Amino acid sequence: MYDYKCNKCGAYLDSGEHCDCQSKKEELEELRYMEAERKSNDRI
Ligand SMILES: [Zn+2]
Repeated sequence: MYDYKCNKCGAYLDSGEHCDCQSKKEELEELRYMEAERKSNDRI
């Protein structure tokens, strides 16, 4: 028997289940990136 654990947040998962913390993080980083780009465009 295997313990499926998210190696990012340590949450226990079912086999083959993907923890949503990673997609959340990607979303957050994309949002931050877009915001930073928008700000730099405003400055110009
Ligand atoms: Zn996770």
